[in-house]
Amino acid sequence: MTRPTILVLGTGGTIAGAGSGGTGVAYRPGGVALESLVAHLGALGLAADLVPEEIARIGSQDIGWAEWQALHGACTRALADPRIAGVIIAHGTDTAEETALLLDLTLPATKPVVLVGAMRPADAVGADGMRNFANAVKVAGDRHAAGRGVMLVMGDAVLAARDARKAATSSIDAFRSFPRGPLARVTPASLDWFGPPHRPGAAARYPFPAELPRVAILTAGAGMDARPVEALLGIGARGIVLAGMGQGNAPAVVLEALARCAASGVPVVRATRVDEGLVDRNVEVADDALGLVAARALGPAKARVLLMVLIANGITDPQAVQAAFDAG
Ligand code: ASP
Repeated sequence: MTRPTILVLGTGGTIAGAGSGGTGVAYRPGGVALESLVAHLGALGLAADLVPEEIARIGSQDIGWAEWQALHGACTRALADPRIAGVIIAHGTDTAEETALLLDLTLPATKPVVLVGAMRPADAVGADGMRNFANAVKVAGDRHAAGRGVMLVMGDAVLAARDARKAATSSIDAFRSFPRGPLARVTPASLDWFGPPHRPGAAARYPFPAELPRVAILTAGAGMDARPVEALLGIGARGIVLAGMGQGNAPAVVLEALARCAASGVPVVRATRVDEGLVDRNVEVADDALGLVAARALGPAKARVLLMVLIANGITDPQAVQAAFDAG
């Protein structure tokens, strides 16, 4: 059997974190060069050839438009290159779900693209990064991995971009998959898919944007008034995601202000500040009357990414935006 060649894109994050002194708390995300991580992986004798390409060495809290453009470009070239079987992106965990969803929405599902991170820095005792990395190599080199969209490998699980979210700040078991469970269980020696690919051979769902519009997340709190909504319009927000209470609720004055935004052509998506659960249409909020959109299974961070991609592609009508959120 031929060994797959896998492009490994580095962005930094805790998986490349250094300076913990083994047992310390503080560290620098991206302190370790990608070449050094890949050299460590090479020494594990994995059944793949790895080609490193460093995009950045930063904490993923600082990842944004420039890195997203670079990642999309590198992935697009790799998908078109017959020598490359799959792509791994080493990424900080804070915004992994956002990068994963952006790429999932804008890349074809013809080869595996796998994000991998770690909760403990590379030089910490009990570091999880090499284990997760070896798992990611297993996934990216697997011939059954294509057609599943962009994936995230953490803690021996393979999660779909649309379902993955960071749910804990520091435990190594930090990621959850909602509303669907993991796609597979993985170890460096085994990979068990739980079902067939859900996007076999699929083309990209949206063109990669020429630029990203300003979309803000507004978190609801008891007793708040409508002034934060006015402030967001004042700084030129082109879309708003409400991180609402419960099923995407907010005080009546806030909902009225958001309805005025929607009426003026600024789409408003209601998500929830609750850790997990669906936000459905017309439950306690009269979405039909107010012109609002329900985020369904997407939490605020991922709802913002989808809304940015939709607005960038000229999709702002509430019904069309709702259809995109319903499609998951
Ligand atoms: N702040 C880090 C980052 O997202 C945390 C991590 O990687 O786990 O880059």
